[in-house]
Amino acid sequence: MTEPRHFNAHCHLELSHLRGAIPPGMPFVEWLSHIVTLKRNRPPEESRAAAADAIRELAASGTGGVLDIDAMGTGNAALRDARFPAISFTEIIDFDPALGAWAVDRTIERQSAYGELPETLRLGVSPHAPYTTTPRLLRAAASKAAEYQQWLCIHVSETPEETEMFVAGTGALHDYLRDVGVLPPGWKPPEMRPVAYLNAMGALGPRTLLAHLNDIDDSDLRILGEKRVSAVVCPGTHVYFDRGEFPLRRLLDAGIPTYLGTDSLASNESLDMAREIDLAAALSPGLPRETIEDRAAWERAADFGFET
Ligand SMILES: [Zn+2]
Repeated sequence: MTEPRHFNAHCHLELSHLRGAIPPGMPFVEWLSHIVTLKRNRPPEESRAAAADAIRELAASGTGGVLDIDAMGTGNAALRDARFPAISFTEIIDFDPALGAWAVDRTIERQSAYGELPETLRLGVSPHAPYTTTPRLLRAAASKAAEYQQWLCIHVSETPEETEMFVAGTGALHDYLRDVGVLPPGWKPPEMRPVAYLNAMGALGPRTLLAHLNDIDDSDLRILGEKRVSAVVCPGTHVYFDRGEFPLRRLLDAGIPTYLGTDSLASNESLDMAREIDLAAALSPGLPRETIEDRAAWERAADFGFET
């Protein structure tokens, strides 16, 4: 491995076999439905092999460590095999309002089944997003993460449709989840913005990392600051979905420790952090390039307990 230069704070190695599978520019909800089908229909061996290639790509492009979301176990397996420095966040998605604590317990069991991990690999917990989890699940995940001293990573405020679902109970994301039959019958919106909702569930704290945060307002920034959470933004994915304002500058101005990540190859064409820095610079007029480079520097990994 070349001398590490970069730290990638958000990836889904297990989706590396879906590189180029979905053309860019599609609305997020449509992309989501494609991902669900593709994940179901492709064999796990394909995912594991592509994740191993992706780790080699990370190392070759100067990334020294990664925060990776893992739902299928294949990303975790590839990280174990490669002994690549990482936190592997076990992802939890469960829509049943009664089974939240059970889903979290099952996740912890899955983690114990990994047995002894190489010293390069630690575990975290990732309740996927406010719209794919339940209040009980979020509360249980936050309490288990604290008990096991693990980081918590949650995707939040990625799109205006997510905000609309949580504030008003309407919109494309809400309708998609209802139409595919996963939204519990009688589901009611909490009538709160997603960040405020996560806060009400006790999920925000100094060991919480929130991914995306594209659709945020000043009330969200205030909560993030008060709870001392960290944030990760993903320039390549931002461009892929042709999203609006890139939130990096607002987050940094509000004093939120913010990092850069590639997200997965299902919504990005490369895992090269140098490209992410270029994209972030292009998306953040007025923000000094050195500031952006610093947020993606390998030294930043020390904030997550990596030895840099
Ligand atoms: Zn993600």
